This record gives sequence, C-alpha cells and structure tokens, in this order.
Amino acid sequence: MLALDSPLLATSYLDNLNPAQRRAATYGVGVPAALPLLVIAGAGSGKTNTLAHRVAHLIVTGADPRRILLMTFSRRAATEMIRRVERIARKVIGEGAAVLTDALTWAGTFHGLGARLLRENAEQLGLAPSFTIHDREDSADLMNLVRHELGFSKTEARFPTKGTCLSIYSRCVNAETEIDRVLARSYPWCVNWAAELKSLFAAYVEAKQRQSVLDYDDLLLYWAQMMTDPDLASDIGERFDHVMVDEYQDTNRLQASILLALKPDGQGLTVVGDDAQSIYAFRAATVRNILDFPAAFSPPAEVITLDQNYRSSQAILSAANAVIDLAAERFTKNLWTERAAGSAPQLVNVRDEADQARFIAERVLENREAGATLKEQAVLFRASHHSGPLEIELTRRNIPFVKFGGLKFLDAAHVKDMLALLRFVENPRDRVAGFRLMQLLPGVGPTTAQRVLDQIELASEPLAALGAAEPPQRAGADWPDFLATIAALASGHAAWPADLERARLWYAPHLERKHEDAASRQADLIQLEQIAAGYPSRERFLTELTLDPPNATSDRAGPPHLDEDYLILSTIHSAKGQEWSSVFVMNVVDGCIPVDLGVGAPDEIEEERRLLYVAMTRAKDHLDLIVPQRFFTHGQSSTGDRHVYAARSRFIPTKLLGRFEQTAWPRAAAQPARPPSAGPRIDLQARMRGMWR
Ligand code: ATP
Ligand code: MG
Repeated sequence: MLALDSPLLATSYLDNLNPAQRRAATYGVGVPAALPLLVIAGAGSGKTNTLAHRVAHLIVTGADPRRILLMTFSRRAATEMIRRVERIARKVIGEGAAVLTDALTWAGTFHGLGARLLRENAEQLGLAPSFTIHDREDSADLMNLVRHELGFSKTEARFPTKGTCLSIYSRCVNAETEIDRVLARSYPWCVNWAAELKSLFAAYVEAKQRQSVLDYDDLLLYWAQMMTDPDLASDIGERFDHVMVDEYQDTNRLQASILLALKPDGQGLTVVGDDAQSIYAFRAATVRNILDFPAAFSPPAEVITLDQNYRSSQAILSAANAVIDLAAERFTKNLWTERAAGSAPQLVNVRDEADQARFIAERVLENREAGATLKEQAVLFRASHHSGPLEIELTRRNIPFVKFGGLKFLDAAHVKDMLALLRFVENPRDRVAGFRLMQLLPGVGPTTAQRVLDQIELASEPLAALGAAEPPQRAGADWPDFLATIAALASGHAAWPADLERARLWYAPHLERKHEDAASRQADLIQLEQIAAGYPSRERFLTELTLDPPNATSDRAGPPHLDEDYLILSTIHSAKGQEWSSVFVMNVVDGCIPVDLGVGAPDEIEEERRLLYVAMTRAKDHLDLIVPQRFFTHGQSSTGDRHVYAARSRFIPTKLLGRFEQTAWPRAAAQPARPPSAGPRIDLQARMRGMWR
C-alpha cells in the first residue's frame, strides 16, 4: 500500500485522465469530511472510466475494497468495472491488484446487493432467510392467481390484465406514489377499478408474505424500509466507507432514499450520470434524483462536469448533439472532441424490414472483410421483437450473434422448469414454483397441485408436509421419485453445482415426454450447469440469475463460445454505457422511435428522443440509422397485425438532415415512385393476348 504523499502516485495511473476527470477521481480522497460528489456529463465523456479510476485510486491509497459499495446498472457493468479497476491498479501495485479487486465483493446492481443485505438481516426483519425472488413473469403469474381468487377475472366489464395490474402496482411502489395519482396519470382507462386494484394489491402482498417470496420491487422497497430503522440503517451505512453509483439518472425515488439513508451526511458518496440519457422513466426512474442530488446535502455536494467526448468521431458527435439539442430541457452541455471528423452518419433508406436485415448482414460482412471483428459491431433496436427478421438473416448466413435484452435463455420452458425445481427446494412455500413443478408429473393437474400447495403453505415444516401429503393416485411411481429428489436436494449432501446434475437427471424423462426436441433442450440444461458453476451456492445462483439473467443466445445459431467472434444485437435500453466501432440502429421511423404511444404524453416523447441519443452515442467510428419505408406492426386493439408505411423518426427533422448522409439500399429503392398517372407498369393483358399470335 502506498502512502498518500508517495511520489509514485502523482505520476503513474492518473496521467491518462484530463484535469476535470482527475479531479473527480481524486476528489476528497484522504480528506476528512469531504463533500459528496456528483459527476454529471454527456455520453462518452469518460464518466464510467473516471469512476473506475476513483475506485482504483481509493484502493491504491489504502481504502478497504470490502468496504466499497459500488452500484452499477447491470451485473455485467459491475464485472467490467472491476476489471477496469484491476487494470488501473495493476500499473501501481502489479500482480497484487487482483487480490484487492477480487475483494470488491459489494459491486453489483441495486437489486442484487439489496437481496444480499436483506438476507443477511432477514431475521431482524421477520423475513425467512430462504426467501426466493420472483421475476416479472412469476410476479405476473402470482398476480393472476390472486386476481382469479378474488373473482376479478370474471367481472363483466373487463378488469385490467395481469400485466397491467403488475405495472400499476410496480409504479406505485417505485415512484412512492398513491394509486389514485398513478391511475389518473398513467392508466386513465383503469381509474374506475381503483378500489378493486387496492384490494388486489393488498391480497397480492399477503400472498407473497405467506409464501416467503419477494418480487423485484420488494427488494428496493424492503431495503428502503429496513433503512428507516435507525439502528439497522447505521449498522449498514457504517459497513461501507464509500458508496458509488454509476448511471444515476436511471434510479428511482426508492433508490435515492436508500442512498441517502446509507450516507445521510453524504460523506463517501459519489454518483455519476447524464440527465440526457435518462431512459427508464417508464420504470419510475426520475431524472430529479440526479438534478436534486447536490442540494440534498448541506453544504451541497461538489459537482464536476466533463465536456470532452473521447468516444465518437466529430461527425457522429455533432449529429448526436443536434438530436439532443432539440430536447425540451436538459442540464448537461454539448460535448466537444479532438477526434477527426470521420465519415458522416448514414441515414439508410430501405424498402422494408427484410431489406433492412439484408442490408445489415451485408454491411457487417463487408466490415469484417475490411478487418473489423463482429464484436466491434452492434445492432440496436427499440423493442426486442424488432430483431426477428435480422436473426433469421444472420442465421441463414451463419453469422454468429448474441442478443442482449428481450427474451432470455431463462424464459425457455425447460430452463424455467429446472429453476422452479431449485427454487421450490430452496423455498417450498413458493407457490408459483411449486405449481409449475408438480404439474410436470403425469397425472398431476392444477387442482391436485393446489391441494398439496395449500397443505404446505399452512404447515410449519413445509417439506414434512409435502412428504405427508396424500400422493396423487395417477402420478404412480413418479410421486415418490419426486419426493426423493426434493429430499436429496434439500439435504444439501450433493455439493453445489452437483445439485443441478441431480435435478437434471430427475427432469430428463419429463423433458422427453413433454418436448419433441428434447435433445437440444438437454444441451441447454447442460449449459445451465456450466453457468451454475460460476456461482458459489444455489441461493446466489438463483438470486443473481433471476435479477440479471444471462444473455439470450440464439437457439438456431447455437450459443457462441466466449472466445468466438460474434455480432452484438441489443435493445437500446440494454446498450447503456457501452460502445462499439460500428453501430446500426434499426427502424428509425415514427412508430418505433418514438414507439407508437397512441396519446403519448410530452414527457414520454422526450424519453424516446433520449433513447435515440443513447443509441447514436454508442458509435465510435460508423453509425447507420436505418429507415425502412414499410414495416410490420403487431397492432394492439382493433388494428391487428399489418404493414404500415413509415416516416423517418420525428427526432430527425429536415433541418437536421445536413448532419447525415442519405443513401438508399439496394440502389433500386432510391428510385422515386412512379406518378399514379403513369398507368400500369406492364400490360399483362396484351402479353397474354400476344402469346397466341
Ligand atoms: P456513457 O455516458 O455512454 O456511459 P461515459 O461517460 O461513461 O459514457 P466512458 O465509457 O467512461 O464514458 O468512456 C468513453 C470512452 O472514452 C471509453 O472508450 C474510454 O476508454 C475513453 N476515455 C475516457 N476518458 C479518456 C481519456 N481521458 N483519454 C482517452 N480516452 C478516454
Ligand atoms: Mg458510462
């Protein structure tokens, strides 16, 4: 460890930072009673990089890495941050750096770290330490079950769907807002159901508690509640000397209250973000968190802004700046760059989505011919299902890809079955898991499963109650086999991850029976075992996997190995914080960006503008925005599925066209449409007559 005044420190690893970045990396380090710090700046200005340098600087100057709480947007971002910190620290302390950065065990997402703190303090909170976590789909299933029990699914006027109910519930919780206000503001067509929704949510909360399950929102809600107890709050706050948050613009009110409760005087607190990139308001994130941060403390926090962009070529940066300049309000200023102009971003007109997919595949291959790897290229889209035609085209041409965001590996029925088994062993009161699991057995239907689950739920020893339950007659030998498997897994005799193999062997005959393509599904389960090996325990595996599932891989192309080269497909939301040499943005048309919002409120439209800004600012050297003239919509309500003619996104109005180079692909698409007066293109009738002359 080096002393603060060591001459070595001044030179080495901070040299690459510009003066503002260096100030942010070193601000208050070693100074008693330093103010909290906010770094607010535009995309690609080095915020994440600066935060990594700050962590490295802290560690190198003697901070205990186990006492640093580092919150990032995804687990992937946390892992990447730790790697960066290690690379930086290595320059000063050599090989030893890895030992220290491995000790950054409190790096992860708000939700993941919340789950750990809750489990550690479970007993004091009256929670079962073995609580399991419901992902959104499980939560919707449970909401549905409760909705059904209360008879709301049979109401004459149509009661909101389970998905809508869950969204409303989630919005109330995360925005800490009364249901009436949430309904009036965001779900006006549901205002008449306010009373029923309240009783539904009350029953939903009770069901979760009886079953010892927490949903995503609970992790933040319980954490925030835990911090209202002064003793617990100071216990937890004192465990950490430094609390740091990246992408702070996308946190919600609960997260802000957790942060303030951890460090009420702000000491040791650093947050980093960009209000122009706030894209999670639909999950109740609020840009007010970052804007109000300085004044939350007295004296107010130190604010450092960065203004140089290191990521994008001049041409790309100025196009992105022009797009965000049209935003209604914004705090961060435009950035400048020393990079050369580079090629102008392209606005590529294509006929339809099929051509869009062909264009991307061809361009990606051309880039590869020119020496760019696939991994240096990414295709971004607004909604996960937009990439369907592209996935087919890539598979057809044998271009490997990995998709981030949207449908996950974990959503596959067989993977869910296996996870349900593990979750049920972990927490037999988890009804959604138990319900799914028992119905895998031949002869066990919903009624039988409910009966057994009822008995378990009321029992003080749920596993004993399961063993004592009357065996479903039609399940035959499968029932004792099921009980034996549960008992073996619950005993913990097989060490993790050998557990999972035991589970897979039990599941194999059921998989065979249920699915024709059992062999390829088996391969997924073996892959699941490999993933499992990366986690220290069954509980950590289930928790982390539920909170931050691994990337979806294509069934058809087969999962690429990590050392292989593959193209990145990602929703814009999941592309946050990342960068690639070439970026393609699909469907830059009204109806996609902005997404078809119907009666979109102005602030929702503004969020869509920021999304386009986030997408564009991922590009370093090449940026293609693709504008299909026709696309297929999955219509809601009466419109149904149909092709619609699309217009270029309203976020690139005519006055911005000078920032782009407009092209058409293939060339034919550039030809102007024939005027209607030109008559039929070919005289088919004359041809038919001519055949007989
Ligand atoms: P975003 O807003 O998209 O999250 P960011 O502000 O976090 O972006 P980084 O991802 O930290 O920006 O940095 C963007 C790129 O600029 C990275 O490739 C990083 O290595 C590079 N970079 C940052 N600071 C410097 C610097 N001082 N000198 C050279 N390169 C830098
Ligand atoms: Mg960043």
